[in-house]
Amino acid sequence: MTSTQVTDQDETEHISALETARRQLDDAAAYIDLNRGVVERLKHPSRVVEVSIPLERDNGEVEVFTGYRAQHDDVRGPYKGGLRYHPDVTAEECIGLSMWMTWKCAVMDLPFGGGKGGIVVNPKDLSDDEKERLTRRFAEEIRDEVGPNQDIPAPDMGTDVQTMSWFMDAYSMQQGETVPGVVTGKPPVVGGSYGREEAPGRSVAIIVREAIAYYGKDIEDSTVAVQGYGSVGANAARLLDEWGATIVAVSDVNGAIYDATGLDTQTVPSHKEEPEGVTKHDAPDMLTNVELLELDVDVVIPAAIGNVITSRNADQIRADIVVEGSNGPTTAEADDILADRDVKVLPDILANAGGVTVSYFEWLQDINRRQWSRERVVSELESEMVSAWDSVKTEVDERDLRWREAAYVVALERIGAAKEARGLWP
Ligand code: GLU
Repeated sequence: MTSTQVTDQDETEHISALETARRQLDDAAAYIDLNRGVVERLKHPSRVVEVSIPLERDNGEVEVFTGYRAQHDDVRGPYKGGLRYHPDVTAEECIGLSMWMTWKCAVMDLPFGGGKGGIVVNPKDLSDDEKERLTRRFAEEIRDEVGPNQDIPAPDMGTDVQTMSWFMDAYSMQQGETVPGVVTGKPPVVGGSYGREEAPGRSVAIIVREAIAYYGKDIEDSTVAVQGYGSVGANAARLLDEWGATIVAVSDVNGAIYDATGLDTQTVPSHKEEPEGVTKHDAPDMLTNVELLELDVDVVIPAAIGNVITSRNADQIRADIVVEGSNGPTTAEADDILADRDVKVLPDILANAGGVTVSYFEWLQDINRRQWSRERVVSELESEMVSAWDSVKTEVDERDLRWREAAYVVALERIGAAKEARGLWP
């Protein structure tokens, strides 16, 4: 997920992603016959690297930043996952997020494991030159950990195509050859894939479409509210709008705009088109981000930051379906409250998995030195998403599970089988 900020900190609850991820793992493991040793191994990352990154600021002073790369599990293939530039980045958060990447890649049946990293920094405080120097030095500090067959970073909150270009360049310069496959989410001119930037939003829209149909509704009669209008939120909103849904509310860090008759999502500026421009757009009503989540709509999509649906507001959610666009927007406690109230939650590890899926397509294109057309990317993403949806739906139907539990079951069965096949060395 690329950068978008949405709520005030006091509207979110500080619950560690690692705590949530471990609890979700335990909950899901109870449904399958998974070796306890495997569950135990999956609770811990293989490795977490912490580095200091000295940066010469534009004024000549040197400031030292902290960066991390957490590598959770690589039984199914190289570690894969984003790099986040955000003041709240911690080692623990990176570990939790890297666990979610392991499950996400397994749900999508991609030959990758899970990784995540980042720098404790507010990118808004840096000039472009400073961001470039910081990224290049970070790439150098973690150079031994990454590589196209080892660990492949990608964009996440606060990073984008430009960050990935600098990272790839810094890595390649030291390797003495151009290595496009070391990161994904690059611009197409340097080995990036067409359709990668909008892919997480596209997968969210596909899951909304499938979920609406599954619960017997028509997309044309459905109302949707979207929190966050960055790469995930704006792309999901615009596609759903195109497919006939009524997008009644969208928001950014400053608040939400609301129109019961439906917003024209093309004219509302995305974070990329005009940062923090949503509330400047003309609309009949303004709401807070908290009010947006509590709207009486068919589908609500939290697509900004984590921990926005918590025990504090879960009983106020009036949507029938929550589709998670950001990583970890719902806490484990909130999940229980929503389940008791029969609100369906389509989990992040399925819904926003279009990002890493097109990252996989990008990696294949880099290895083969052959670019795919946008049409091919869109059509292959569509079939990968529908096939993952079908696997998860089968578990929901056959075992009467919640969607998150079902997605975990699909992922854990694949990971568990790989662990069994490879065994524990020595
Ligand atoms: N950061 C994105 C995610 O959370 C993409 C990861 C990737 O493409 O490797 O899924």
